[in-house]
Amino acid sequence: MTEVRAPRGTRDILGEEAFFWQYLEDVVRQNARLFGYEEIRTPVFEHTELFARGVGEGTDIVEKEMYTFTDKGGRSLTLRPEGTAPVVRAYLEHGFFAREPRVKWYYIGPMFRYERPQAGRMRQFHQFGFEALGFGEPSCDAEIVALSWAIYRDLGLRDLSLEINSIGCPLCKPQYIQKLQVYLSDHRERLCENCRRRLAENPLRVLDCKTGQCQDVFRESSFPSIQEFLCPECRRHEERLFRLLENLEIPFTVNPRLVRGLDYYTRTVFEVKVKSLGAQDAIGGGGRYDGLARVLGGPDVPGVGFAAGMERIILLLEKSGVSPRDTFRVYLAPQDEAGEERLLAFSRVLLLYGIPFHLDFASRGLKYHLKRAQKMGMRFVVIVGEEERERDAFSLKDMDSGEQVLLSSADLVERLRKERGTC
Ligand code: AMP
Repeated sequence: MTEVRAPRGTRDILGEEAFFWQYLEDVVRQNARLFGYEEIRTPVFEHTELFARGVGEGTDIVEKEMYTFTDKGGRSLTLRPEGTAPVVRAYLEHGFFAREPRVKWYYIGPMFRYERPQAGRMRQFHQFGFEALGFGEPSCDAEIVALSWAIYRDLGLRDLSLEINSIGCPLCKPQYIQKLQVYLSDHRERLCENCRRRLAENPLRVLDCKTGQCQDVFRESSFPSIQEFLCPECRRHEERLFRLLENLEIPFTVNPRLVRGLDYYTRTVFEVKVKSLGAQDAIGGGGRYDGLARVLGGPDVPGVGFAAGMERIILLLEKSGVSPRDTFRVYLAPQDEAGEERLLAFSRVLLLYGIPFHLDFASRGLKYHLKRAQKMGMRFVVIVGEEERERDAFSLKDMDSGEQVLLSSADLVERLRKERGTC
């Protein structure tokens, strides 16, 4: 029988890589705590309609990439392709608008899109995201950008570029769309087939297209810039955001071609890219979506958020050469059953002092334990055999120097604490 494998576009996370994931999640949660964002966990699947409305008919995601199925009750359900629509759905469903309209939430979890898998592009991938609902102020846009920036900075990521644009509001956006439609119609022949079709429905969506031929059209110097069409309110919003980011010393460039092609996105959009990732260079993006709650059947609730692709960040962390493993761990090597008992008791003392350990068991000889400790990168091995038991002590072997000393329990703890730098 052939071996069953993980489905295409999915993968297991294990070994050294799992440490990178924990590290990344720790940094995300730590920053969420500092900025006062609380966790929300929404279901992995939702009614298909949520994404059809909340992501938008005519988008690549809804047209081509959703994992949609009918359940045994005949309902159409979809594995979530993104996190914002579910979060806004939860906000509306739990009546936050009436009792606590301003909330700051974050999430971490898997997303699903039927895409062509390649490095940094998966069918099951993970995002962390932040959403501030009920906040219309440009300072909240600045906070969302600052929050994402703080996470990237804490992770030690370098060579990042932050691009920002404003896509206006229902007042000024339509005039730009009109201008865009005329321009793109004049260059219709140069657009990809998909975009020629989309042009009629919503030319803004065309700007989301990543194909080389369409990107060439967008790069022309005569290409209309939305920046010239912004109404006074949108301009004020944008200028204030820019000033706040300058105060926060967050470097950015304005990219007038950056859009989120959906009707309910308003004003701020931004994207973070990194040079060293090649084709899949976007590691996060966000924006303001003041029209989304209404599209989902709720009242007008302003919102701004951000989502980052975790696989791509993990690739960067792996390249950086730092090991996320706890470098100080103690290998406990009992020589017999009685040694196991003593080391098991001793491990409780280590727990008390927060010293990580790996307890192995007595069925293998000392040679095996030392080899394994070395392979695991352990600096110290604590050995308990007959001699140690008779003298009511522990042997501590320093794998770097080869030195081995006999210590009382109290001295051993003291030494390990000192070595770890926790005294
Ligand atoms: P989006 O929700 O499309 O704005 O994506 C936000 C971020 O998620 C992107 O900047 C990517 O880093 C990441 N991302 C999107 N799609 C995928 C995918 N199929 N595989 C891995 N990461 C992805």
